[in-house]
Amino acid sequence: MNRDTVLFDLIAKEAIRQEEGIELIASENFTSKQVMEAQGSCLTNKYAEGLPNKRYYGGCQIVDQVEQLAIDRAKELFGAAWVNVQPHSGASANAAVFLALLQAGDKILGFDLSHGGHLTHGSPVNFSGRLYQPNFYGVEKESGLIDYKQMEEVALREKPKMIICGASAYSRDWDYVRIRQIADQVGALVLADISHPAGLIAKGLLNDPLKHCHVVSTTTHKTLRGPRGGLIMMGQDFENPWGQKTPKGELKMMSAILDGAVFPGTQGGPLEHVIAGKAVAFGEALTDDYKQYITQVKKNASRMAQAFVDRGYQIISGGTDNHLMLIDLRNKNVTGKAAEAALVAADITTNKNMVPFDDKSPFVTSGFRVGTAAVTTRGMKEEHMDTIVEHIDRVLMNVDNEAEIKEVKKKVNTWMHDFPLYK
Ligand code: PLP
Repeated sequence: MNRDTVLFDLIAKEAIRQEEGIELIASENFTSKQVMEAQGSCLTNKYAEGLPNKRYYGGCQIVDQVEQLAIDRAKELFGAAWVNVQPHSGASANAAVFLALLQAGDKILGFDLSHGGHLTHGSPVNFSGRLYQPNFYGVEKESGLIDYKQMEEVALREKPKMIICGASAYSRDWDYVRIRQIADQVGALVLADISHPAGLIAKGLLNDPLKHCHVVSTTTHKTLRGPRGGLIMMGQDFENPWGQKTPKGELKMMSAILDGAVFPGTQGGPLEHVIAGKAVAFGEALTDDYKQYITQVKKNASRMAQAFVDRGYQIISGGTDNHLMLIDLRNKNVTGKAAEAALVAADITTNKNMVPFDDKSPFVTSGFRVGTAAVTTRGMKEEHMDTIVEHIDRVLMNVDNEAEIKEVKKKVNTWMHDFPLYK
């Protein structure tokens, strides 16, 4: 077949969009070239249902080594005793955990989507809210911090089988010790979904959930800077007897149950080309370079939060401990939807986001979310965060002024040439 110029022209346009804009979507990042090379490799041709050395197909002798490499590196990176690197995405990882640990109709307790949680933590439009009975905790109205008292009250009242912690839009660290104590009172399992801050956790910049939570799930493409995908892990204490609290006895059993819930429970053949990309990314994340990178991500987020506060913006919880922040725009008289559209017109990509106790719909919202993982990959440091916030503020103060927004776009496009993406 001739080269598919229609498709490759589109990819070339997307490459320019990525090069010329400021990427602030908190869940995005730019992988290395070698991650993309692995993903674009011949491994995409191979079926490999099963696990390394236990496959349902012949010819897996090489992909077995690829997958084992990803497993070993993920274990080392997080200090995990067991991992499964096959989930196609974060949502698939969570689906497998739910299937493994719950019966349909069981009660679960998750972080409210409208306060910063994720769809897969019990939203009625998602499998997690349709097949299970969701209950929620949120943040305290005054502080914007997780309301652990409410978590405990709901847990004691509802006796959920699983408590889910983790978020898509929460800028503070989690108290896993407290969550485990709450769970132990009612015999619940704890799932920590660390999709967003995984890279910061891996490098010790945030509390470690693997020491306290029964199962940990994550995406691999956010702060971890790998290919799009998911990962499920258990910490070291999974080697110990599980006592009466597990559904099936020993922790060791749980790994088999979780493996089975990924395949054949919720997936068919694993994406070995993506798993290869994960192996590369985990290898990168084990280096000192990555430690410097992720430390800078956190410093940049902290500086960006301060720059917003200095300009009168309200950040939920007042600041950030991780790579992201959620900004309440109500005092600026701009909706999240209008902000997102105006910023995109200036080639600054963010996403509108509900804020806790929002009075607007998820399609409009009162806020927007930003993160520093992607711009830090491009080499930006603290002082550049001030410039980004200056551009954002200029756009948001002029959402209806096309000429002004065009001016900002021009500046952004020129400026981004100083931070080449793929040299
Ligand atoms: N869990 C959390 C906390 C997330 O933020 C996300 C994605 O944003 C997911 C799960 C789902 O990941 P994916 O989009 O790969 O399915």
